[in-house]
Amino acid sequence: MSAICLILNSPDIEGAILQVEENRQYINLAELRVDLLKPSERTRAAELPEKVQIPLILTIRLAEDGGRWGINGESEAERINLFLALLNSAPWSFVDIEGNHPLTEVRRAAEAVGAKIIRSVHDFSDNLLSGPVPVLTDLISRLGAEGNILKIAANCADSAALLNLARAAAATKFLDKKILIAMGEYGSPSRILSQRHGSLWTYATSLREMKSQPGQLQPKTLEKLYRFRKIDKSTPLFAVVGNPIAHSKSPVIHNRWLQDLDVEGTYIPIRTDNLAGTLETCDIWDISGLSVTIPHKEVALTLADSASNLAQKTGSANTLIKTSGGWRAENTDAEGFLQSLKEGMGTSSEETLFGRKALIIGAGGAARAVAHVLCNVGMKLTILNRSIDKARTLAEECKAEWGPLDKKALPKLASGIFLAVQTTSLGMPPNERIDPIPWWNPVGCSFVYDVIYGSSETPFLRRAQVAGCQTISGLAMFKAQARLQFQLFTGIVPPSPV
Ligand code: NAP
Repeated sequence: MSAICLILNSPDIEGAILQVEENRQYINLAELRVDLLKPSERTRAAELPEKVQIPLILTIRLAEDGGRWGINGESEAERINLFLALLNSAPWSFVDIEGNHPLTEVRRAAEAVGAKIIRSVHDFSDNLLSGPVPVLTDLISRLGAEGNILKIAANCADSAALLNLARAAAATKFLDKKILIAMGEYGSPSRILSQRHGSLWTYATSLREMKSQPGQLQPKTLEKLYRFRKIDKSTPLFAVVGNPIAHSKSPVIHNRWLQDLDVEGTYIPIRTDNLAGTLETCDIWDISGLSVTIPHKEVALTLADSASNLAQKTGSANTLIKTSGGWRAENTDAEGFLQSLKEGMGTSSEETLFGRKALIIGAGGAARAVAHVLCNVGMKLTILNRSIDKARTLAEECKAEWGPLDKKALPKLASGIFLAVQTTSLGMPPNERIDPIPWWNPVGCSFVYDVIYGSSETPFLRRAQVAGCQTISGLAMFKAQARLQFQLFTGIVPPSPV
């Protein structure tokens, strides 16, 4: 099991005590960043161990390593003296000493008082994780061989850099006293899955610092959302992969189901700019189920080792399941859409739809799932899209009419549309004010569905409401496809609604 270490980044000792008390139930240890204390508070640091009664790391971080020591002219000699004074006047469990500074007197003093030494390396340049894996592996092995605890915190520029960290950690798994952290949003999974790369603990931070450090997490989030301290080497792991990913509601929904149903497992977000690389990282960390979102659904299908009929037919996969034969592609968007449509229409049967006319706005991944499922239940489709070729291709697959997404398509919509489904990304941030089809009046259309899900209704859906149509928002589809995914991940049907 990996532990949670809270970074105490308050400018005064009272603030540091408060940070410990607010997080005590979620943390195992804390790191006092003496360099972040006001100069007048620095000698008071010795009061902290007795006041908080929790294992503490003593750190005086240099500016070149991301700290503040030296910024106001403080010297290295003053830093050494402060280290020695604090080590000799209070019981610290650990002292953090940068790997590129010998600090021999400090190390000797730490050993004399029984404080364990952490040798830390900080890289803000992207070079370490974006460079060759053997260089990183050698660094870990070399510093680890000193017998101290080794910490590497390195900037993570993309999915390839996260994969490099996972590879280097796997190559050095024989070293049990290490802490490896990939910094930045791409590196955030390394903070949640520190157990999987053999880290003794993860660093968590208070809200104030989180705002300036993307990828960092609060102790409460680690424990309550991800059940961090329950993750061991056999805990089933699931993730959502996409770019961007920070807004995704999937971790909240899936983790709530896992917890409510008392199913072992954790579900995390992974920002991904290269799905092939992320799949290799998932293999190393033994992540067995993925929700796939924009923009990776089509490439997910091409990378999978096998695919369901629906995934093949729609040309996209929103789900990848790890099997003994590799990754299997599934598509739960199509069935999730149909389930939520029937629920929104108040019917359990598809017969209501048979032979009726549907307009599909858009021809991207979501449109493909919607078109195939509506074609299957016997609806007559008209597909309009900005890129006309995509509308034509999809229409040919579904024996549908097609046209451009502009006024020239109006004649195609002249005779009664029963259901209109909006599937473009217009209506979601940063285009939340845009109606993709302002020139069409939906009066007389019985049902209008917008697959976009967000905190507020889209302009198109609002207009449809005013026109007297019954409207359904994409949140219903989102929940339905997530339920089907959860079932594929765990074999258990989650409760509805979330
Ligand atoms: P996609 O494959 O990238 O397709 C995007 C669609 O939007 C294409 O038809 C594209 O037209 C159109 N589009 C984008 N910008 C446009 C513009 N400025 N003007 C006109 N058309 C524009 O994305 P997707 O996977 O289908 O997702 C589309 C939306 O559905 C997203 O908002 C997504 O969040 C939502 N979605 C919701 C659920 C759910 O569970 N509720 C599931 C899947 C998707 P071109 O072909 O001309 O580029």
